[in-house]
Amino acid sequence: MSEFIFAPAPQPAISISGSTQLFPVRRVYCIGRNYAEHAFEMGHDPKISPPFFFQKNPNNINQTGRFTYPPHSSDVHHEIEMIVALHSGGSDIDEFQAEAHIFGYSIGLDMTRRDLQSEMKRLGRPWEVSKAVEGSAPTSQLRLKKNVGLINSGRIELSVNGQKKQESDLNMMIWNIPQQISKLSEYYELAAGDIIMTGTPAGVGPVQKGDILQGAIEGLGELKLTID
Ligand code: MN
Repeated sequence: MSEFIFAPAPQPAISISGSTQLFPVRRVYCIGRNYAEHAFEMGHDPKISPPFFFQKNPNNINQTGRFTYPPHSSDVHHEIEMIVALHSGGSDIDEFQAEAHIFGYSIGLDMTRRDLQSEMKRLGRPWEVSKAVEGSAPTSQLRLKKNVGLINSGRIELSVNGQKKQESDLNMMIWNIPQQISKLSEYYELAAGDIIMTGTPAGVGPVQKGDILQGAIEGLGELKLTID
């Protein structure tokens, strides 16, 4: 049997509320423009330009409670999002079978170099450099579906230094969670360990070093993040 030439990188993982076990992360799918008000604030009409998918790196997952302001940007934005974690997958999953694949949920932040994203859009280039940023997927502990039930509605909000910036309801998603799983599985073979960042509501905006972000989703607790 061959050995690795150097030690493989640690397996990215998310802790689980009330458990010592970890959820090993395989892929991080993200959905863009999944709340109409956010699509409008970014200059798009969701009727003409529907939601779509992109990815972050699994090792962008961050449970340190801190996010280091990244280089090559002076306009890093917060995007509060619900994360859905899958314990099984497949291709061409029927929308009405999709919820069986959900393991649990957490509160996530899709930290974004907005200035670089705008530049990449303008140049017609991939956005990856604006999204797959070190530490750019802070998340709370996962809550198990078997404990919290299916979540399709409920308050989602984010405050920066105690000031409310984003506030909506999960039921305002354009593509609901079963639809996201079903649509994703048309393009990719989903599997255990995949997570989906389900899009952000309106009110995204810049963060500064020293800011304290507090995210909350009804039924899932809170996520606190300090910008270094
Ligand atoms: Mn996002």
